[in-house]
Amino acid sequence: MALGHLNSYSDRMTDDAKARLDKVSANIERAARLAGRRGEDVRLIAIAKTHDAAAIRPLIDAGQRRFGENRVQEAQGKWPGLRAEFHDLELHLVGQLQSNKAEDAVALFDVIHSIDRPSLVSALAKAQQKTGRHPACFIQVNIGDEPQKGGCRIGDLPGLVAEARAAGLDLTGLMAVPPADLEAAPYFALLAKLARDHGLDGLSMGMTGDYETAVLLGATHVRIGSALFGTRA
Ligand SMILES: *Cc1c(COP(=O)(O)O)cnc(C)c1O
Repeated sequence: MALGHLNSYSDRMTDDAKARLDKVSANIERAARLAGRRGEDVRLIAIAKTHDAAAIRPLIDAGQRRFGENRVQEAQGKWPGLRAEFHDLELHLVGQLQSNKAEDAVALFDVIHSIDRPSLVSALAKAQQKTGRHPACFIQVNIGDEPQKGGCRIGDLPGLVAEARAAGLDLTGLMAVPPADLEAAPYFALLAKLARDHGLDGLSMGMTGDYETAVLLGATHVRIGSALFGTRA
């Protein structure tokens, strides 16, 4: 009796996760089609920060394989265990990265979205040599020129792109978080233009509140937390 109860609880968690995943995927598909794109060209990253393995597992059971974290240390605590169990997970770092954590980040993550300065480019290049791992990289742009926000300034982007390429990073795109209280669309359009100007195909933009707009404007990677996990505590 008790065991049946437990099973139905975990089944229900998986059903809920599946319903949320299906809804977000359908919204992405619809926005992509409107823009003459294919839904499968948009990668959905489930941002799992603050959520533990028990909260993540139902999404894995529902078929999600691509996850993101914003802190190296938090990710080190939960992903090695899940990875031992599920071999096809893809892990993305979307938060600011300190240079002294570069080696840990390269060892754990498949994609790094938050490259924002030359010293981090050097630290990552060194970490690549040491570990033999080459994560795909995005440069984060401070697209609204906000003093408190991470990301390189728009004026510094050409130099940083050149340095990342010269250092042998696998530079695939640009990432940004637009200003919180303004219409996001112009900032997404600006990021897309900057990516085109630099010959970069990847566009990491769009979160729970604005991912359909981001897909309409060319996002290749959307980073979604709340719509998949529920609101963070
Ligand atoms: C938390 C976070 C997200 C996800 O935010 P939601 O609004 O919960 O979808 C996306 N990108 C970054 C960089 C984040 O820190």
